[in-house]
Amino acid sequence: MTLTRCQVCGGTDLDLLYEMRSGLALTSLGETYPASTRVWACVDCSHLQTDEMEQVEQYYSEQYNILSDSEEEDQIYEVRDGKPLYRTEHQLRVLLDKLPLPAGARVLDYGCAKSSTMQALLRVRGDLQVHLFDVSDNYRRFWERFLPEERCATFEPQRQWIDSFDLVTSFFALEHIVKPLDALQAIFRQVRPGGHFYCVVPDVESNIADFIVVDHVNHFTELSLAYLLQQSGFEVEVIDRSSHRGAFVVLARRPLSVLPQVEPEAERVAVQLQALRSIAAFWQGAVDRVTSFVAEQAPDRPLAVYGAGFYGSFLTACLGGADRISCFVDQNPFLQGRTLFGKPVVAPADLSPLIDTLLVGLNPAHAERIIAEIPAFHSRALRCFFL
Ligand SMILES: [Zn+2]
Repeated sequence: MTLTRCQVCGGTDLDLLYEMRSGLALTSLGETYPASTRVWACVDCSHLQTDEMEQVEQYYSEQYNILSDSEEEDQIYEVRDGKPLYRTEHQLRVLLDKLPLPAGARVLDYGCAKSSTMQALLRVRGDLQVHLFDVSDNYRRFWERFLPEERCATFEPQRQWIDSFDLVTSFFALEHIVKPLDALQAIFRQVRPGGHFYCVVPDVESNIADFIVVDHVNHFTELSLAYLLQQSGFEVEVIDRSSHRGAFVVLARRPLSVLPQVEPEAERVAVQLQALRSIAAFWQGAVDRVTSFVAEQAPDRPLAVYGAGFYGSFLTACLGGADRISCFVDQNPFLQGRTLFGKPVVAPADLSPLIDTLLVGLNPAHAERIIAEIPAFHSRALRCFFL
């Protein structure tokens, strides 16, 4: 469904930045989505929106089971000295660093999925009164392992929760919500006056994959995020772009009185829009770059894709499928041993010596460094294609 209004500021002046043809549209889980889709920029506040997927409600209640296969499964945040640091662990560190929580504080994780962050939080802060909310029943079997049922709600938050929480958290949820202003207003009602809202959402400028993900209806810029929070009644304390790579870490407070509204500055919006247009141009060109590179290779030269995540899926989709690919290579032990597009995912150390060419499916801002730091590749002469 095409959105005709900006869901942050209500503006109707939307600029079409990018259109993906069917087959290249990918979900945040790296699965191809069989429809074309478009990305629009709001000229008034610089918010980016992607046309809503068909049957979006069904997608979330049935198909979107992020990392729900097992209790421990997690995404890698980064690999340091060969050791993976998982996203949950990093999220917890940053949260505890940003906001000291008093003993017994009431916390609600809103749109929480498995809520591995809250589970990890309770391991170090068993005194906290943690509550969970999501729009799906899929995760209840994980919640019941660490929280009583009365601390949990699905579809609607519990009535008695209103105005009661010292802290409401939201980790990577707002980007999926078609009406973010409604969600933020609902969150605002759960926070006690003077309490905090803490959220982490993708920063499309430093995490450019976010731009083409079809199930992210919202792609936030610092300006649009600040405006959204302010319109919901919050006072922004911090929008931090450095603590979580590729994401905004936001701390906002429910003020004790109503604050005046401030419109986004037109000059800053114009600068932001220019940056968004160059991301659109990058993705427009990426398809041609990878298909030309592969076309130049001898047909019998085996190719591997480095990265069994979103960028790896994008490269495969560009090639029209995995026929030309021997395997995927990834450092995440949870992905190794699985298949992606019918091809095995192997550890770097297990990459066949017959393969000398890698298509690197990683965020281009960090790809060269990540490849250079893989010990198993130090003794090999690999030719790498970078996006
Ligand atoms: Zn707007």
